[in-house]
Amino acid sequence: MVSRKRARATTSGSPSHGPSRPLLVAVLGATGTVGQRFIQLLNGHPWFEVAEVMASDQSAGRAYGEAVRSRWKLSTAIPGPVGRLRVKGPGNPLRSPILFSALDASVAGELEERYARAGHLVSSNARNHRMDPLVPLVIPEVNREHLELLERQPYANGGGLVTNPNCSAIVIAMALAPLHRAFGVEAALVTTFQAASGAGYPGVPSLDILGNVVPFVSGEEPKIETEMLKILGRLGPKGVEPAEMAISAQCHRVPVVDGHLVAISVKLRRRATQKQILESWRSFRPLKRLSLPSAPEEPIEARTEDDRPQPRLDADRAGGMGVTVGRLRKCSVLDWKFEALGHNTIRGAAGAAILNVEILARVGRL
Ligand code: NAP
Repeated sequence: MVSRKRARATTSGSPSHGPSRPLLVAVLGATGTVGQRFIQLLNGHPWFEVAEVMASDQSAGRAYGEAVRSRWKLSTAIPGPVGRLRVKGPGNPLRSPILFSALDASVAGELEERYARAGHLVSSNARNHRMDPLVPLVIPEVNREHLELLERQPYANGGGLVTNPNCSAIVIAMALAPLHRAFGVEAALVTTFQAASGAGYPGVPSLDILGNVVPFVSGEEPKIETEMLKILGRLGPKGVEPAEMAISAQCHRVPVVDGHLVAISVKLRRRATQKQILESWRSFRPLKRLSLPSAPEEPIEARTEDDRPQPRLDADRAGGMGVTVGRLRKCSVLDWKFEALGHNTIRGAAGAAILNVEILARVGRL
């Protein structure tokens, strides 16, 4: 049985210290692209300790290091203690109160719900529950008040489900949130250039992607268009009221390893100068006083060179948790246009899910 009670607290509550002892966590889908990122990012984490790993039946029963072996694609080594953990199979009972999910969407929906019912807090990357009315779809810098939805979920014994948005939607929402707050976003056209690691492993066949651009990423455009409205929406008594704006997305897979670049044109409800827009990005520090281990000091860096941001140069900024914007200029169709970039498996996936649980821990909700 999971020994964790969720205390009632507001997400704007005063900061406390982190947990006095590391909280035990499990990684679901630990052998995949995002699962490996979780293992890497949680290594040496001051608040969380990886106690369990879970994957499909093909990996279950083997030591993690052996199960993942040649599929480990990160430049740091598999942490020794995690490499020795025995991989659990889908649905096996777990003792960790917190579960980070990088499960394939074909199984995430049912498994995550089963674990939430068993009293685990599940922080998920999968798309399955993102649009459920009682499930928060959260980026702590943007809409942490949506975490209040956890209190309305039907799970007992501290169980719950929290999700982070799609990897491109996170980058877009981070870049648009300060503009929406200051000037109101009426419409945005977004064109993505998405890294190969976004498709998991082995992902897109090399003959399809090398020296090429694929103008289709399955399911991505509707995800961006719907998730954005929930993320930027307002929490009301009946749930999240979607933001009133129009978003149109066009998605492309490009031969880049990590880092999703997005070209954005935006129409604002109130007039804004270039200086005011740059200032809204540069002053965007909503988590400044919370001292969360994974939160970047400067969540958005606004660059002024003609040729930035670039995936190779900027995706790793702030440990992969920073979003970089640049090339802000007038748009002759809408009002303004610019580029935004974020690391898809860190800010867009594993790092996002970890940050969601850090803020819950910080405000006493674990
Ligand atoms: P991936 O590399 O294909 O990994 C999938 C993981 O799910 C593996 O650990 C796999 O275990 C496990 N799995 C597959 N079938 C299973 C089953 N029947 N029971 C239990 N585990 C099973 O995929 P990924 O790119 O890491 O993506 C993981 C999730 O994150 C997906 O829902 C994806 O949409 C989402 N996401 C990915 C990104 C990204 O940039 N890659 C960004 C945001 C969100 P085995 O190794 O044992 O098969």
